[in-house]
Amino acid sequence: MRLSSLIGALLASAAALPAQSPVRSNVQVTAREVLAELIGINTDHDSGSTTVAAQAVAKRLLAAGIPAADVHVIGPANSKNHNLVARLHGTGVRKPLLLLAHLDVVTARPSDWTLPPYALTEKDGFLYGRGTSDIKNGAAVLVAAFLQMKRDGITPDRDVILALTAGEESNPDYSGVEWLLANHRDLIDAEWCWNVDGGDPLILKGKRIMRTVQASEKVYASYQLEVTGAGGHSSLPPRDNPIYRLSKALVRLQAFDFPVALSPVTRGALAGAANFEPAAIAADLRLVVATKPDAAAVKRLSAGSPFYNAQMRTTCVTTLLEGGHAENALPQRARATVNCRILPEESSDYVLETLRKVVADSQVKFSVVSPATPSPPSPLRPDVMQAVERVTKAFWPGVPVVPQMETGATDGAVLRNAGLLTYGISSIFLDRDDIRAHGRDERIIAKEFDSGADYGYALLKAFATKN
Ligand SMILES: [Zn+2]
Repeated sequence: MRLSSLIGALLASAAALPAQSPVRSNVQVTAREVLAELIGINTDHDSGSTTVAAQAVAKRLLAAGIPAADVHVIGPANSKNHNLVARLHGTGVRKPLLLLAHLDVVTARPSDWTLPPYALTEKDGFLYGRGTSDIKNGAAVLVAAFLQMKRDGITPDRDVILALTAGEESNPDYSGVEWLLANHRDLIDAEWCWNVDGGDPLILKGKRIMRTVQASEKVYASYQLEVTGAGGHSSLPPRDNPIYRLSKALVRLQAFDFPVALSPVTRGALAGAANFEPAAIAADLRLVVATKPDAAAVKRLSAGSPFYNAQMRTTCVTTLLEGGHAENALPQRARATVNCRILPEESSDYVLETLRKVVADSQVKFSVVSPATPSPPSPLRPDVMQAVERVTKAFWPGVPVVPQMETGATDGAVLRNAGLLTYGISSIFLDRDDIRAHGRDERIIAKEFDSGADYGYALLKAFATKN
């Protein structure tokens, strides 16, 4: 037991002391130390280095008795952004488990902040600093849980691999997960990956509303629509030209909605949201997840919320437009870029064919600008979901475990593409109305970080030992 927590425990046992004396578990103490150290190391892409942070963690692991052969600080040659990969050996009954968090952060300019971004500050019940919510908090919890398992002398029934990576916030940079997959897949190969950078448990107006598990992500793709014409003098215009023709095509796209297609993940997410949304929206959510989705409810929900609309269907939107070449000339060319976020179960060919049918004009030529990189959803494995349910129930009875599809993309997509099942499961509750990742004065609730450390360790034991 560490001295500070030993004193804390002794103080707590003295009945005369006030109840607010902070008593921290060993995992909490370590998590706080690691968080302070990581926040104090600048790991942004301008002047920072994830190598320095990886080395700091490596030093702790070695000091705790993890053999040097199981601790690696590695990355591309000539890069200041290396990764930490460490392994705690298990009995091998089950295949390894990979724990993942990124070490890099989005650049913070001290002049924009009211507190120093590259130092951990505790103030009014919050922990401030760049990376306190994305995702050095999660990295600190994983390190603390990994170390505690070693200190408690627990031999897991599978190898536990800890990977703290570079290059997540600056894609495409390829110094992090992509580099590890290409160069050291053997070091990180696992039955599945627990990614703490996704699937946040959420608080709304002071109440814990749900524990999400991120199991899939939408797929990104962009297409170009182009119309060409003969051009000519603008004083003798025919009724049609490429700009008008393209405009009509875009208006047709605007009016079109892809069909609703719910997966087990989005069905669970929408049903879970019905637990905390206002009554009218909750009623529509329940009608939408019914065996046969109610068309009127779908319409109301999509119209009222781009978020729920994006959960229910593939979306495509025109994002760029160009056309013509001179004020006094008929346009010879008009082009638009349409960006799509495709449900992971749908193919990009289907989406492109559908766009062609909706436009229904052979003079509008389609081409692919950014091809889709598929991101197959990770099936909701019963062993993972049951472990999360069990630990969540022990810590926060009544808080529902809800699957989630991300509408953006994270390192989870890279791993899923490489065939590694990945689940986003952060252990630290965030206030849904106070999300500050990438922003100024980034912060989290201090006591949620502490309880998240205990919960994270409990999750690790549930995932990696026989219960
Ligand atoms: Zn992140």
